[in-house]
Amino acid sequence: MMVLDGKIASAAVKEQLKQQTEQLRAAGKRAPHLAAILVGTNGASETYVASKVRNCEEVGFGSTLVRLEENVAESALLEAIQALNDDPGVDGILVQLPLPKQISEQKVIEAINPAKDVDGFHPSSVGKLVQGLPSFIPATPYGIMLMLEHFNIDTKGKHAVVIGRSNIVGRPMSILLSSNLAYGNCTVTICHSHTKNLAAFCTQADILVAALGRPEFVKADMVKPGAIVIDVGITRVEDATAKKGFRIKGDVAYAEVAPKTAAITPVPGGVGLMTIAGLLKNTLAAYQART
Ligand code: NAD
Repeated sequence: MMVLDGKIASAAVKEQLKQQTEQLRAAGKRAPHLAAILVGTNGASETYVASKVRNCEEVGFGSTLVRLEENVAESALLEAIQALNDDPGVDGILVQLPLPKQISEQKVIEAINPAKDVDGFHPSSVGKLVQGLPSFIPATPYGIMLMLEHFNIDTKGKHAVVIGRSNIVGRPMSILLSSNLAYGNCTVTICHSHTKNLAAFCTQADILVAALGRPEFVKADMVKPGAIVIDVGITRVEDATAKKGFRIKGDVAYAEVAPKTAAITPVPGGVGLMTIAGLLKNTLAAYQART
């Protein structure tokens, strides 16, 4: 069993980005710049955004963090996005989800200039992805593709089962794995909350991607021996013995599943780190297309 270590794979991607940024600076150009908007003080969102900003610094990108109050009006958020759309020094814009109830996520996603849509959630980006055109790929599925590439996982002709059909993970993941790409060309089954007899699909998977948000849902008897298992889940599970009062759990019961697999991503230290690598790559691509 091989551990698909996100620390190793993301470090390789980031090293490459750092070198590319140094080359830009050496040529007298500015660095790529990512702007993040954080609404409210949700603990997990704070952690994710802080990590994105820190990673920008690590590779030499510029970053801006715009913080807005939990009760901000939708119109004020849309104005903040417009200001970043209009700012020539900003290459990529992300609005950390989820957003408070008074705000339409769809309106926010559509307000971002598609040329700066480094989260890849704008319908224009999604449409291009579906048609196999160059586009911003949502960071988590992109990160998983980078992970498959880093560890040179053979995907061609394999049966991939994706659990979850969200716009940010499951659905784009299923599109990428089925696309005619170096680490695609899978036959893909997409499962969701209405799938009957989920285990029967999972046990047929050469590649199993779990993105349903239910801690330790995938058990050993749902996994085919020798499968590649990609665990996307991140859930904070209360635990009084943990320093922070919670532990991060994936969607896969790692201890019992790992010995059965050919390769598996850990949580934490797997897909989460690759998500940031995907976001940074999108930011550089946005910069390159704009300069
Ligand atoms: P979501 O809630 O939007 O979607 C979950 C999907 O799982 C839905 O399509 C639903 O139909 C399906 N589902 C739910 N219960 C199911 C069941 N019992 N059987 C089969 N399918 C079921 O979630 P999301 O935004 O796609 O995120 C999924 C998980 O991935 C969450 O734990 C989230 O925190 C995590 N996540 C991790 C990263 C990362 O960087 N590692 C990024 C995004 C999301």
